Amino acid sequence: MYFYLPKQYLQATSDELKDRIATAKKKLGKRLCILTHHYQRIEVVEQGDYVGDSYGLAKIAAEHKEAEIIVFCGVHFMAEAADILTDDHQTVFLPNPLAGCPMADMAEMADVMEAWEYLKRFGAEERIMPITYMNTTAGLKAFTGRYGGVVCTSSNAVNAFKYGFDQKEKLFFFPDENLGYNTGLKFGMKPEEIVIWDFSRDSGGLVDEQIERAKLILWKGHCHVHIIFTTEHVRQVREQYPGVKVVVHPECTPEVVSLADAHGSTSFIVKYCAEAPPGSIIAIGTEISLINRMAQQYPDKKIFELSGQTCPVCANMYRTTLNDLAYTLENWADIKPITVPEPIRSEALLALKKMLEIS
Ligand code: SF4
Repeated sequence: MYFYLPKQYLQATSDELKDRIATAKKKLGKRLCILTHHYQRIEVVEQGDYVGDSYGLAKIAAEHKEAEIIVFCGVHFMAEAADILTDDHQTVFLPNPLAGCPMADMAEMADVMEAWEYLKRFGAEERIMPITYMNTTAGLKAFTGRYGGVVCTSSNAVNAFKYGFDQKEKLFFFPDENLGYNTGLKFGMKPEEIVIWDFSRDSGGLVDEQIERAKLILWKGHCHVHIIFTTEHVRQVREQYPGVKVVVHPECTPEVVSLADAHGSTSFIVKYCAEAPPGSIIAIGTEISLINRMAQQYPDKKIFELSGQTCPVCANMYRTTLNDLAYTLENWADIKPITVPEPIRSEALLALKKMLEIS
């Protein structure tokens, strides 16, 4: 897919773009709601009505029935979830249609269906609950809803696991093995109760005995932004900054999460920074735009990126610019919105609504 902006948007200065955005916002008033994810560029977040994690923003989209035009500055699966949760009179736009999520792409529908078919030999429909991370296509959320499962985000994964185990013996979690593993440990599971389904291998690379014994079957997927953090980074930062607090996102590896002082969703990290006393030293393992924003917002605290290389950038989150936002606000009537067709929408809605209920 090609995507390009007309020259007048590409060549506009930042101040011109901000003026155009302000004018469009004034004109559209309450008909418009701009949602911005924590990983968006600072200048984009500044233009939004709300900033949050994927759970918080999904909730806001579901609650703001008066907003006919929802502009979601995030990635594709987030805009899809917003479209599923909103009513028919509401339309969702993704300002940069190329903004996807490589982790979501690691769980393809056909591969997940193949795994589920295989798991039917172990009584999947009666014994296993599918739980999907928000970072998946609408099709996989629909699969989850069809089989009585639930969607979760990093804010409510423990609740989702509890919900799953209240009803079934095993969980099938996709696509992030690290969030799944970290949540399993948090839930009190033993490593031997957790297995990884490798979709590139026959029978997921597992033998029958492993599947029978497992309580948690994890999809082999990851976020390339979060797996760059290592235990060596934690060791080095502790050596260099005595008293430092290391705070990481649960998409980091279990080894890093186990060494951190705290771990949690992006909203948790934001709260952690806000509540830390002045003078705190905080090394964060997550996407760089959020860390930069925290450092800017709390100059009385030393907040920096854990790996020390300024490389944890989510290129997809970074795609959305003020140029895209200005173009979307001025041309929304001619832009193709994000729409999820039936019956995918209704089935996915079951799993998303369940998430909102258990959180
Ligand atoms: S930070 Fe990772 S999980 Fe989040 S959108 Fe980017 S690639 Fe996907």
